[in-house]
Amino acid sequence: MKISIERILADLNILKSFTDTPGCGVTRFSYGENDAKARIHIKEAAASHGFLVRTDAIGNMYIGLPGTTDKKGMIRIGSHIDTVRSGGWLDGIYGVISGLEVLRTLEENKSERASDVEVVIFAEEEGSNFGSTMTGSKFAAGLYGAEDLGRLRTDDGKSLGDMLTKRGFASYRREEVVWDFSRIKAMLELHIEQGPILEQEGKSIGIVDSIFGMTTIEVSIVGIGNHAGATPMYYRKDALTAAALCISEVERVAKEDPEGVLVATVGKVAVSPNCSNVIPEKVVFTIEVRGKLEDRIISTIKQIEEAVSGISEQRGVTYEIRHLAESKPFRMDGCIIGIMENMAEDAGCSYRIMDSGAVHDTCVIAPHVPSGMLFVPSIGGRSHVPFENTDAGDLARGAQLLLDTVLAI
Ligand SMILES: [Zn+2]
Repeated sequence: MKISIERILADLNILKSFTDTPGCGVTRFSYGENDAKARIHIKEAAASHGFLVRTDAIGNMYIGLPGTTDKKGMIRIGSHIDTVRSGGWLDGIYGVISGLEVLRTLEENKSERASDVEVVIFAEEEGSNFGSTMTGSKFAAGLYGAEDLGRLRTDDGKSLGDMLTKRGFASYRREEVVWDFSRIKAMLELHIEQGPILEQEGKSIGIVDSIFGMTTIEVSIVGIGNHAGATPMYYRKDALTAAALCISEVERVAKEDPEGVLVATVGKVAVSPNCSNVIPEKVVFTIEVRGKLEDRIISTIKQIEEAVSGISEQRGVTYEIRHLAESKPFRMDGCIIGIMENMAEDAGCSYRIMDSGAVHDTCVIAPHVPSGMLFVPSIGGRSHVPFENTDAGDLARGAQLLLDTVLAI
């Protein structure tokens, strides 16, 4: 049984035109105008094959043959269709359209498997509206509930609840949103790698083993703001120079990881008053540490906290550390990994088992249901930018392996 890459590319090429930033990558936030257009396109494509489409109160969409949604032992395949601002044309949506293609191919070939498969589109994966990633899958997994509809807000104060009502989504009922895990045999997601490893190694497929855990902390350093001309160098308590030392230390500590897999990033810095002629009084920055081993993440955070304390003391500034978020590392289902390996070998596909530094919707579902993830290479390792791309041959191999896995599970 063969998927049609032409059909996948035709859909993806239409869908990339649904963007708020034409000519400057794809910007398609959940619950926006272009999200609605993309949903209509996908609904029509699904309906033309006789599939039913159901959308829950959060905007998670389900596509399958009549009866599948109530079936025991179903296989869900999915990803997301929302993007970051000026993102690429494949992130998320490649997995959704490949899922739809798997379903179409099964149905056309009159495979019994067709009635076991449901394609899922998770809403608001990127966190572009509310700063909370994987929102749709967190609702599906029951990690978020009714209380989060008012809590999750855009920068200008609009709540998720208001946005859903405005867009005409049904009112929230937990039993319709949270998955009944006992009925689901497996969850599969095909995604672009969004990193350089597969391309560098000349491999077409990545089979995901571990998903990195992540801890995010926020450090505030307070010095003394003062006149940038009248204050001698020896008299300064500059919060920014202290922060700069801390940030360099974050990089040094992460590079010391013996396995070379741990990563640490300072991605957000706020300096105040942020004026060229005032010595910085306060600097607030985030530190995100991701890794495969929980102990290693904990010890790295501890090492960084000690460094912040030491540098602050040396520099005569004060500091405060807040823990913002935490997720534990975990592994995808061993059985599904084995099936994917066998299928890749049978197809003569070059592949490698790899870890994922990025977190995806399936990671939220994986603690509850046997799950598997496949990656295809990202050209130049680039993603979340307009240049994001993957070789068409690799896109085809990924979708075919997804189908082969669905048939073998
Ligand atoms: Zn994605």
